Amino acid sequence: MKIAIVGAGLAGLRAAQLLEQSGNEVVIFEARDRVGGRLHTVQSSEGFYEGGGEWIDGDHHRLISLLKEFNLEPEPTDFYPGIVVSRGEVAPEDNPGDRATADFDGIDEAASAIAQRMPAEPWLDEDYADLDRKSLADWFDRQCTSDVGRWFVEAYYRSDEGEDTDQISLLSWLHFYRNYLAREVGEMSAARIPGGSQTLCQHIADGLQAEILYGKSLKSFETREDHVELWFEDEMVFADRAIITVPPPILAQIEWPVDQEFRRNQIAQINMARIIKVALEYKTAWWEQSDWSGRLLTDLPCQQVWIGGRHGANVLCAYICGEEAQMIAQSSDPAQRVQNAFAEIFPESSDHFIGGKVHAWLDDPYANGAFPFIKPGKFVTAWPGRAEPVGNVHFAGDWTAEWFGFMEGALESAERVNQEINNE
Ligand SMILES: Cc1cc2nc3c(=O)[nH]c(=O)nc-3n(C[C@H](O)[C@H](O)[C@H](O)COP(=O)(O)OP(=O)(O)OC[C@H]3O[C@@H](n4cnc5c(N)ncnc54)[C@H](O)[C@@H]3O)c2cc1C
Repeated sequence: MKIAIVGAGLAGLRAAQLLEQSGNEVVIFEARDRVGGRLHTVQSSEGFYEGGGEWIDGDHHRLISLLKEFNLEPEPTDFYPGIVVSRGEVAPEDNPGDRATADFDGIDEAASAIAQRMPAEPWLDEDYADLDRKSLADWFDRQCTSDVGRWFVEAYYRSDEGEDTDQISLLSWLHFYRNYLAREVGEMSAARIPGGSQTLCQHIADGLQAEILYGKSLKSFETREDHVELWFEDEMVFADRAIITVPPPILAQIEWPVDQEFRRNQIAQINMARIIKVALEYKTAWWEQSDWSGRLLTDLPCQQVWIGGRHGANVLCAYICGEEAQMIAQSSDPAQRVQNAFAEIFPESSDHFIGGKVHAWLDDPYANGAFPFIKPGKFVTAWPGRAEPVGNVHFAGDWTAEWFGFMEGALESAERVNQEINNE
């Protein structure tokens, strides 16, 4: 069977690998000039850092075993515990103060209890569907008992979700919370991909027979009884099957078959988180002389910072989400602004600062954000059936998966489309 795959990110490449293994002929169309999509490893003056996806959680078993296929051993990180800086007060991340700890633990306990008893398809039950109309922020407001606790919970989950919590459907959050029920302490952000996240994509691409055609941006598709037609700017392509792996807002901009408008509208309800990642480069790794472990969560407008440089790159990554990310991205010198905020905690950093590079995923033309999330009131309509094929066209990508918004989800989706096609 001839299969056209749109998107050379992790989902598209892994799907290509699996489909070739089962004897199919694959061709890949990619709008950018590189593989990896939202995995983008950036070379620095020395070494590298991640401009996009970075962390492997300890329970991302597909990802860990795929790395093993290429003899890549996840590189463990040892930034724990980081520090929390709020209203000028510094505390260790694992003990941010009694009130913050009480609220954080209370949220975890309450969420675990609801998630454990939630039915597999909560959207079918009116009581749970009601939770969809509430935002995560509404719920945090009710659960938290102090301002400092509310701030800590917001800062923690905003960085986890990539968005302000008033943007997130409570039901969607509880649904995905189930993934974490079996998680052990220390499994979150436990490791990184040796050589960089994009390297994994390059390894998969290098092993494919498939040709990857770059600069090919899908504009519309039509499904016929025994084939599919894909239109790019300058050509039309026929294939027996197609797999489209582009992020949801991009998919919603593409022209669909006329009788599938409702599906396009459904997918348009899945949003992408407003995130900027700012790489701050320094003359020296000045932090090695400090007692900072390498991770920071703060109320200053650098939000979250960690040591992002590897293999000799003197780079700190600031990871900024939600409304604040949008405001900083629109400011006149975002990198300097972020460095100024960081220097309020570590003044010595200014003496070593060379400059910064902003990776504004919120403006990225082929992603429209960093990873998917679902707004209040949208989960019950956007989630069920989101990835169902339309005729001979199948859908993959992290937004279709239970590991929603993770590399692990991209791999999960590739396995699913491979099964869909092979089972036909
Ligand atoms: C800042 C940031 C931090 C992240 N952190 C983590 C993390 O720590 N851990 C983790 O597991 N995940 C993380 N992620 C998410 C992770 O990067 C994604 O889950 C994963 O890369 C998604 O892969 P994908 O193939 O589904 O989508 P993509 O990588 O988006 O691939 C889709 C491909 O389609 C292409 N495309 C788009 N439009 C068109 C078109 N019209 N025609 C043709 N091609 C098109 C794109 O260029 C892209 O190559 C992060 C992402 C970002 C941006």
